[in-house]
Amino acid sequence: MDTPLTEVNAARLARLVEISRILNSTTNLSELLTIIIREAAALTRCEAASILLLDPNTRQLHFKASSNNIEPKMADAAVPLDSSIAGAVLQANRPLHIPDVSRDPRWSQDIDQAIGFRTRAILGVPMRNVDREPVGVLEAINKLDGSFARQDVETLTTLADLAGVAVEKARLIEALQEANRELNELDQLKSKFIAVASHELRTPLSIILGYVSFLQEEAPPELADQLDSVLHAAVHLRTLIQDMLNFRYVEAGQAILDLNEFDFVELVRGVAFGEEDTAAAKEQTITVQLTQERLPVLADKNVMEVVLSNLVNNAVKFTPKGGQIDIHVERRGSEVWACVGDNGIGIPTDQLERIFSRFYQVESPLSRQYEGMGLGLAIARELTELHQGRVWAESDGNHGSKFFVALPLSTTIFSPNR
Ligand code: ADP
Repeated sequence: MDTPLTEVNAARLARLVEISRILNSTTNLSELLTIIIREAAALTRCEAASILLLDPNTRQLHFKASSNNIEPKMADAAVPLDSSIAGAVLQANRPLHIPDVSRDPRWSQDIDQAIGFRTRAILGVPMRNVDREPVGVLEAINKLDGSFARQDVETLTTLADLAGVAVEKARLIEALQEANRELNELDQLKSKFIAVASHELRTPLSIILGYVSFLQEEAPPELADQLDSVLHAAVHLRTLIQDMLNFRYVEAGQAILDLNEFDFVELVRGVAFGEEDTAAAKEQTITVQLTQERLPVLADKNVMEVVLSNLVNNAVKFTPKGGQIDIHVERRGSEVWACVGDNGIGIPTDQLERIFSRFYQVESPLSRQYEGMGLGLAIARELTELHQGRVWAESDGNHGSKFFVALPLSTTIFSPNR
């Protein structure tokens, strides 16, 4: 007994809904195309199906998928819009049924001959994007029983519409992934450049520093000012190169960390002490408020020293002559918090996060009066995050700033026999 027409329709509709769900969840283009041709052949009960997509630049069609195994070289050959059946479907932007291709002058036998297949009839429908513009053609080839009917046209058109949108989405995702890959490559190139440049600059700089120190001792007193300027510039250069060199920690990631347990309070004390001369040169006062308690952390001491030095250096740099810098450390639950505060120029509230991006500086680099490359805070944050810690800034915009470092305390502090 024949299946009633309504039952056939209901079954096709249910299948189309299911296909729509599958197409929506597939973002890989070639996987998507394989699903579409498989479903096109099954839904229209035909021998084979193919997809040709339009190259937006050359405006030529190319076979992108076929249930017949078309060799990649053949599939890649362009199908001209003006002298092919697929081209006619695309240009008319509506379905085309050719019941007997041998009578159609636009039919080319090349592919049939190459793969040993015989195409008799073609039902071609355009695949359209969300704007209803044709982006390709879906072809059903050789109906298995009889010839293609109106219902096949409707089913294939619906499938092609679903497919057109899904293909466009997949292409956009692929383009985004490609752009992302390129960005990552650029980022790596930039980091590599920084690593090589800083390494190469280090040797000539140490020669300059060595000779200037020697000349300061030997040169006549009237050259003292000039030599001081050279020394000052060379020391400045050394700080810049040191920032660039610190990138090696960030790039190498956790693998390079030399983790040991040490007292964080002691480290902060050491860093504050080390910066006192620089602060004194600007007539600034550094006050340090530390707990009596030992606050052990499991971290790379040298790396955390870089983090704290960057923060204290900035406090000195962005605070005018005679300013005040306050450093304190305390235990907060299972963490140690260090805070470096100053009464300097402050940071606009909308930039409190952006200052942690590489090379970002609040003032324009060309007109600013402060030295630096905008790397210190990015390095501080990335290095602290390698230790599962956090760094952030607080400021109301113009009354100084506070920078916080939070690090997990070493678990030994919680052990019962301590
Ligand atoms: P650099 O100091 O080399 O410019 P950083 O990454 O250390 O780079 O800092 C980024 C920017 O954040 C600085 O250029 C400055 O605009 C702002 N900044 C950092 N620390 C302070 C601070 N203590 N007070 C005011 N602004 C600061």
